[in-house]
Amino acid sequence: MKTYKTWTVDVNDKGVMTAVLDLPDHAVNVFNSAVLTELNEIVEAATHQLDKVRMLVFRSGKESGFLAGADIHRIERISSREEAEAILEQGQKLFNMIAKLPIPTVAVINGPCVGGGLEFAMACKYRLAVNDGSTKLGLPEVKLGLIPAWGGTQRLPKLIGMSNALPMMLEGKLIGADKAYRLGLVDGLLSSTSDDVGLRAFIDARLGRQPLAKTKRSWTRWMLDATTIGRKLVVSTARKRSAKMARHYPALARIIEATAIGASSTDVSDSGLRAERDAFQDLLFGSVAPELIRLFLLQEQAKKSSVWTDGAEGVPVRKLAVIGAGTMGAGIAQLAASRGLDVVLQDIEQRFVDRGMETIRELFKKAVRKKALSQEDADAALAHVTPRVGWDNKADLDLMIEAVIEQPKVKQEVFRAADESLPLHAVLASNTSALPIDDMATATARPEKVAGLHFFNPVHKMPLVEVVRTGSTSEGTIATLVNVAKKLGKTPIVVRQSPGFLVNRILFPYLDEAARMVLEGVDIREIDKAAKKFGMPMGPVELLDVVGLDIAADVSETLTPLATEDSPAPGLFQMMVAAGHRGQKSGQGFYHWKDGRREAPVEIPDLVEKPEAIEIDDWKVDGEVLSPIQQRLVLAMLNESTKVLAEGVVEEPRMVDLGMVLGTGFAPFRGGPMQCLKRWGPERVRERLEHLAEHLGPRFRPCQREEHSQIVSRIVN
Ligand code: NAD
Repeated sequence: MKTYKTWTVDVNDKGVMTAVLDLPDHAVNVFNSAVLTELNEIVEAATHQLDKVRMLVFRSGKESGFLAGADIHRIERISSREEAEAILEQGQKLFNMIAKLPIPTVAVINGPCVGGGLEFAMACKYRLAVNDGSTKLGLPEVKLGLIPAWGGTQRLPKLIGMSNALPMMLEGKLIGADKAYRLGLVDGLLSSTSDDVGLRAFIDARLGRQPLAKTKRSWTRWMLDATTIGRKLVVSTARKRSAKMARHYPALARIIEATAIGASSTDVSDSGLRAERDAFQDLLFGSVAPELIRLFLLQEQAKKSSVWTDGAEGVPVRKLAVIGAGTMGAGIAQLAASRGLDVVLQDIEQRFVDRGMETIRELFKKAVRKKALSQEDADAALAHVTPRVGWDNKADLDLMIEAVIEQPKVKQEVFRAADESLPLHAVLASNTSALPIDDMATATARPEKVAGLHFFNPVHKMPLVEVVRTGSTSEGTIATLVNVAKKLGKTPIVVRQSPGFLVNRILFPYLDEAARMVLEGVDIREIDKAAKKFGMPMGPVELLDVVGLDIAADVSETLTPLATEDSPAPGLFQMMVAAGHRGQKSGQGFYHWKDGRREAPVEIPDLVEKPEAIEIDDWKVDGEVLSPIQQRLVLAMLNESTKVLAEGVVEEPRMVDLGMVLGTGFAPFRGGPMQCLKRWGPERVRERLEHLAEHLGPRFRPCQREEHSQIVSRIVN
């Protein structure tokens, strides 16, 4: 046995060399320079003992998984093209060396095997995967604005065909073990990490040179993957499909290009690998990847409670009550149960609880259909939910999440009852969209254990949760809720209690501006188009319809006290609602909706007085031109972001960026509103806001110069 810093290597009497990776002081294995250098030594050692070593098996010593890819902190620190070239070459050469070994090589995969981890596994002759829900394989580099550049774009198409490989890389999608087996990405399945019988049988069969069953491919797949014409068709389809996104995300075109170069040879070619290295370097030192990498690392940071508190420890949460079994309550309960927590789902009447349980069952069904969960895991998770009416027997609860109707009196009553029923250590949280949480805290004898935990709709999809601190919330309570959010797979942002918290507060001036333009007579499709062109996932008018105009009316009402100028928007929303236009859910809002799909715009009735339309010019900034519509929408958000920071709703500008990207989909390639401010020049933005304030109204007036400068210094440093 030989022990390295990160690997342990042993050769058994059959000549099978097993190298086990277990990175000390890391919860998961990642590729760093020690892992690479030592792997190189191991492969060289095997090459020198080919008389003794008949097979080389790589596996993980960690239950958490095989290899989660390259260390992203390390990628972020790469400071020159030369440094990037050296790291890429080192990996490519090493994986080529593994691929060319004259003995069979096997990667035994459990948990995540992504990015560089999969590129390594693909260089082995065989891959075996543990067939449970935690095994995930994929090349998600595109999500960081990068390209797989350790041979991934070259080897994946050779294993699963270009028609499967390209979409997988372009979407950065991870697949489970059974799908990987069906596609031919893995050659066998193991029942668990300790399935030594399965592993031994596979090894013996390979040592005995028994042939492997070939993955069956349909005729169409064969035509697409194995003929030149088919591959050309796959490439041109991928180009067409990604054309719109590729304007903002250059990695897409580079992945297609490198894959197409590799497709011209049967073996992994130097030209394909060169294309990967060039693309990686161009992307890493371009404008988009650094923003996406920064956001990824910010997300990791936000999940640590020490980032938000003075180091206080929270209470561990094993069992919680969700009060209110409506849209949000059922969503939260389903998520908590799917993450292994025990949940009591409570409402005022049996029929409401029953409806909530039905929603939960539907959500589990969908998850099973999408293969996010196995039927077994879904059944087990569902059994974690106990439906209940009334407040009995809450002695074993650690947390309450209140998600009842948005009425202050009802919420206060729930908090009073929870305070009486739940044990003293339990934290009481509200999912309110906008109501002051202090008022709920005062209904209890434990205000220090009361806070907001604001989920977004739909709960299972939206990645962000706002943890809302009142004047009396303790650090321990914040730590508890940050840890709960993390356990639920969400990224928490801790904000100070204030109307609309962080995300809705910044989003609403944008929606308000869209509503004003609608009233001025601007075509709603033009408004939505302009926002999407800027990089928003959906236009603001469509978003209003999706959120629901009734909800928009409520939230805009709550935010009215903060406005520097009267707005016709809340009135417009209310009148639309009164006319039956509640948005997508009622079949009509600003658009007509059919089967969940947006159709033609509706005629906006003459409900409220129409403001006069005012013309402003295009604005050239940082090499791009923002149209008047884009300026009004985006600068409204930028301005509100600085106000939120000036008021201390959050301390750090970068957390505004993270909140807006995760909470609203704010153009990720731009890095968030504060990154726009930084890139465009804080002084130029300020001047433009003053210009808009002069022409459009005082709502665009920037915050005090002194505050502005303070915020700017926080962004720049
Ligand atoms: P909903 O109307 O779908 O559900 C509310 C549920 O609360 C109903 O089932 C009702 O019977 C129940 N309820 C009322 N009084 C109760 C009581 N005293 N005890 C127990 N249950 C009671 O509402 P929703 O959309 O799920 O919203 C719930 C909360 O979440 C609100 O505060 C809302 O502002 C907030 N929120 C909603 C969204 C959204 O998009 N729907 C997003 C974020 C936050």
